[in-house]
Amino acid sequence: MDNFTCRADTSLFQALTKINDNAQGFVCVVDSEQHLLGVLTDGDVRRALLSGANLHKSVMEFANTEPEKVIESGDLEHTRINLDSRITFVPVVDEDNKLKSILSKESVNFTPISTPRYMGNEVNYAIDAILSTWISSKGRYVEKFEADYASYLDVKHALSVTNGTVAIQLVLAALGIGPGDEVIVPNFTFAATINTVLHVGATPVLVDVDDSWTLNPDQIKEAITPKTKAIIPVHLYGQPAQMDQIMTIGEEYNLYIIEDAAEAHGAEFNGQKVGTIGCAGTFSFFANKIITTGEGGMVTTNDSELYEKMKVLRDHGMSPDKKYWHDFVGYNFRMTNIQAAIGCGQLEHIQQILKRRDELENFFRDELHNSPFVEVQRNTYDKRRKVNWLTSFTLKDDFAHRRDQLLEYLYSKGIEARPFFFPLSEMPIYQSYGNGKSFPIAERLSKSGFSLPTEVKLEKECVKRFCDELKTFFNGVQ
Ligand SMILES: *Cc1c(COP(=O)(O)O)cnc(C)c1O
Repeated sequence: MDNFTCRADTSLFQALTKINDNAQGFVCVVDSEQHLLGVLTDGDVRRALLSGANLHKSVMEFANTEPEKVIESGDLEHTRINLDSRITFVPVVDEDNKLKSILSKESVNFTPISTPRYMGNEVNYAIDAILSTWISSKGRYVEKFEADYASYLDVKHALSVTNGTVAIQLVLAALGIGPGDEVIVPNFTFAATINTVLHVGATPVLVDVDDSWTLNPDQIKEAITPKTKAIIPVHLYGQPAQMDQIMTIGEEYNLYIIEDAAEAHGAEFNGQKVGTIGCAGTFSFFANKIITTGEGGMVTTNDSELYEKMKVLRDHGMSPDKKYWHDFVGYNFRMTNIQAAIGCGQLEHIQQILKRRDELENFFRDELHNSPFVEVQRNTYDKRRKVNWLTSFTLKDDFAHRRDQLLEYLYSKGIEARPFFFPLSEMPIYQSYGNGKSFPIAERLSKSGFSLPTEVKLEKECVKRFCDELKTFFNGVQ
């Protein structure tokens, strides 16, 4: 610390010598009790010299007396974000403003749960879209992204939208689902799935998942009533739901099957891409999803009538043949040409992205093979070919109660792990849609599950480090 501090009576010359010695480009000014008085950076010195400052004057005349700093017990995540974008170090002080340590970019070494990566043409296409002046939702990238996505999935139609949430809402609205109708939703999913049902005024009915973490087909039938109109299976964490059984139930009871494939671009059931099996599929291109447009979504369908209806509703319900004539109360759910341009760049590399994500999952499998503590998400179901969204794990029963402690430990080591979703029925706003049932699998998964950082640029050595930390955590306290 001595290398990084000087006293208030130090001259600018001495402070500059210190900055030169520590080679970090800054020095903290403190009093005799280590209270932080200011920070002097080499930039401050440069500006002082250019304005003719005398090198023998006190450092305090030139130091920034209100520097960016962080309280010891404060929000480290916030600091990490700041460090990343603007500054390279930040002093850490205690409640009394005494200097405790200095956080530098190097010492932080933080791996977030996910980092979007540009794989090739994203930036070129986005610039091209901007320069073309077609920056709203018309332009060639929107059409290209939709056509390319449809062709990738082998589905008749793909319709781009603002995000993966309104993608579901658009399908529900176009199918005429609303007040008085019931929609079956798994109790273990991201809340967007259930919110869309509520936004169209319909009533969600929650059903538990099975050991594959997706909707349990055996429990769907008991949840069906004369009011049921649709089922929304979610291909959670990249795992396809049990689509053959769900489709059979749909046919038997005349229900729409809407696949929430927000986390499962490219996953397959029986050789068919998810999102093309039910009457419609929905995808998200949020920054942490498998491919991204920043914010964005897509609806896919083989039903041309449904497609045309959704296209009109996406654009204010306006008649395609008569400008400013509205046949329906529609929405503005359109994706911009700039987002679509990024999507086109991403989609060109989706095979490579999926392959790399699979490799990462396999590295984890190798490292954690036969682990007494933890299991990697299963990929060995008949007919299902999962993709790796966030590499996900469940702790074995004896260790599940230490999940949150584990996540904190990993965080302290610069690894951002995420807990699983809560069962929807545990949250007061959704509780009544559980109809008083218990959901043992959703509850068990929610308590024992977590995800680790997943993105194409992670190296095998990082995976090894994550797994070593995990083992250290459990071994250290047994
Ligand atoms: C991300 C996600 C959504 C919502 O997508 P957004 O683009 O964030 O609106 C919906 N369902 C599931 C399962 C998701 O993971």
